[in-house]
Amino acid sequence: MRRLRTVVIAGAGIGGLTAALALAARGFRVVIIETAERLEEAGAGLQLSPNATRILIELGLHARLSARALVPEAVSIRSARHGGEICRIPLGETAALRAGAPYWVMHRADLQAGLLEQVRDHPDIELRLGAKAEEAAAFAPGAKATVCGDRAGAQEAACALIGADGVWSALRSRLFPDAIPLFSGLIAWRGTVEAAQFPRDMTAPHIQLWMGPDAHLVTYPMSGGDRINLVAIVPGGWNQPGWSAAGDAADIKRMFAQAHWPRPARLMIDAVDRWRKWALFTIPRMAAWHRDTTALLGDAAHAMLPFAAQGAGMAIEDAAVLAQCLGETANENAEDVAAALARYTSLRLARVARVQEAARLNGRIYHLRGVAALARDLAIGITGPQRMLARQEWIYSWRR
Ligand SMILES: Cc1cc2nc3c(=O)[nH]c(=O)nc-3n(C[C@H](O)[C@H](O)[C@H](O)COP(=O)(O)OP(=O)(O)OC[C@H]3O[C@@H](n4cnc5c(N)ncnc54)[C@H](O)[C@@H]3O)c2cc1C
Repeated sequence: MRRLRTVVIAGAGIGGLTAALALAARGFRVVIIETAERLEEAGAGLQLSPNATRILIELGLHARLSARALVPEAVSIRSARHGGEICRIPLGETAALRAGAPYWVMHRADLQAGLLEQVRDHPDIELRLGAKAEEAAAFAPGAKATVCGDRAGAQEAACALIGADGVWSALRSRLFPDAIPLFSGLIAWRGTVEAAQFPRDMTAPHIQLWMGPDAHLVTYPMSGGDRINLVAIVPGGWNQPGWSAAGDAADIKRMFAQAHWPRPARLMIDAVDRWRKWALFTIPRMAAWHRDTTALLGDAAHAMLPFAAQGAGMAIEDAAVLAQCLGETANENAEDVAAALARYTSLRLARVARVQEAARLNGRIYHLRGVAALARDLAIGITGPQRMLARQEWIYSWRR
């Protein structure tokens, strides 16, 4: 019988599941270890630009994911200053034709569920829920991942161990103890509202970005257009780890009640009855994401601010590049595997750093106030939709 090389992945988030599929497609056996007992409906909406959807489609996920996704026709950039639209950047067919793949928005749980179905259908991928990747001891001929949880003490021999265990990565803290998540001073508030209660112009299949002083609001329809996803980014001192702390609606309503937030934005904020919030943390730029036969990907390696809408996209790109580099090694010799992981890091560092920087800059631009906000609005208007879309080309048209 053919013996497959094994890779252990810690974390069944977006990056971990995509990496499992990409590695299995290149002939690896994959064991995914996930702390959560169940992958439940945590989180809210995610944006997936063509650089990410292209990879998912190549992995055979088109049918499963397109059924759960919505294709936004445009990004409508609005200023809280006057409430009107400054620029409408075409997405939909235009972005798909330009970049060769669609732009999707969907609930994170729907994306994870689609990936999970594909993983479960693959005979060479094993998913262990309720287990925690605790320790990686690298030694020839490969790494061993110590797994605890309901399988306390079980060990899985593998040629490589991949830490896709998110911003609070246990593997990163062992490998690179100095790389500690940094709180940005910003908090993302998330909620959804039923689309039917609003006039049609407020629920068009657009991503709406409202820029206001020190804060911004992003809304888009998802779940077949029945619900609108809202993300409000505001400054704050609350900085607990986690993805779904309950947020007090009165707090966020107060922040958006001020006169400079236009009525449609306030109406949507007021309609959310269940807010979830999470503090935005980033991982400072690292010189490498690998050591010996262990490597990090996604948020574990480079958690970024969400203002370029590329958190999931970069994890998906990492997964594809990592699988390609490991797939090019002919054996499971530890030196060859370590060289492949070094190649993966070197192929990814500069691009991810550029995206991280773009996200940081977007955040600063979105939150301008006074004369600077006025100048921003004028500049965006003069630039115009086609050139605004062309500015995203380096992100959307990426190919490995
Ligand atoms: C519950 C949750 C909800 C989210 N909701 C949103 C959202 O609505 N919108 C948005 O833009 N982003 C959201 N994110 C973040 C987004 O998924 C990531 O920024 C992006 O997709 C990169 O994903 P990732 O795979 O690197 O990490 P993540 O998606 O964070 O996945 C990491 C996975 O690793 C698991 N894990 C952690 N430690 C261990 C360990 N020691 N051993 C094994 N497994 C471990 C976690 O349970 C998780 O499933 C959410 C993340 C999580 C975990």
